[in-house]
Amino acid sequence: MSVKSLRILVPVKRVIDYAIKPRVNKTQTGVETTGVKFSINPFCDIAVEEAIRIREGTKGLVENIHVVSAGPTKAQDILRQALAKGADNSTLIETGDKEVEPLSVAKLLQKVIEEDNSNLVILGKQAIDDDSGQTGQILAGLLNWPQATNASKVEFKDDKVFVTREIDGGSETVSASLPMIITTDLRLNEPRYVTLPNIMKAKKKPLKKVKPADLNIDIASRLETIKVEEPAKREAGIKVGTVDELIEKLKASGSL
Ligand code: AMP
Repeated sequence: MSVKSLRILVPVKRVIDYAIKPRVNKTQTGVETTGVKFSINPFCDIAVEEAIRIREGTKGLVENIHVVSAGPTKAQDILRQALAKGADNSTLIETGDKEVEPLSVAKLLQKVIEEDNSNLVILGKQAIDDDSGQTGQILAGLLNWPQATNASKVEFKDDKVFVTREIDGGSETVSASLPMIITTDLRLNEPRYVTLPNIMKAKKKPLKKVKPADLNIDIASRLETIKVEEPAKREAGIKVGTVDELIEKLKASGSL
């Protein structure tokens, strides 16, 4: 039996743009977000691209690509971007400005997946703001689905999905049957750019808004951030003229 149709769900997170150097806020409770550029998390962009490429490469197999974000109202921007690239519909789970922990995100996504009857979920391997790298794995646990993390290649053959993962000193290929979870690595693909006409067209595509309470999920945090600090400033170095001088200095500093 071969895969008959794919209903793909792609969770996408709005994060501080990867090119911006984050600064700790005045209260030292997190990073400064006012006046800072936000974008789609790069690994989520790769996940969207992969879903679209699967559609392009497997004629008629993909029935639907649904992009979902849990975040503030402004997360609509990244959903519209994904719609402009080729996703069919989108959902914003309105969680406000507060950071939502991976367990809560996974619980919210589980509800959407059950409602949608999705059989493939492609997430980023990590969100570059919290660097948790947990959501895909927790979701696989909640759903009791197989997972292939850090994918650098995804292929469909008969009734199986083959995922290549980069590991120390080589690569590893794993396979599983649908439904399954895949998380994306950096080298999986190079996301396309959105064009203005497609952004205009995407305005007609569905963007549904729901609240965590509509999904019966409590998103209260279980962790409290006590303090966020910048790394200690590096002291200026000195130049030494010879190896002997270097050894002398190291001895004097107690490093040797
Ligand atoms: P993390 O576990 O936070 O490092 O995030 C890994 C992946 O989970 C991201 O690349 C997204 O695909 C997904 N994810 C995490 N947080 C959210 C969120 N608030 N909304 C939608 N997807 C999310």
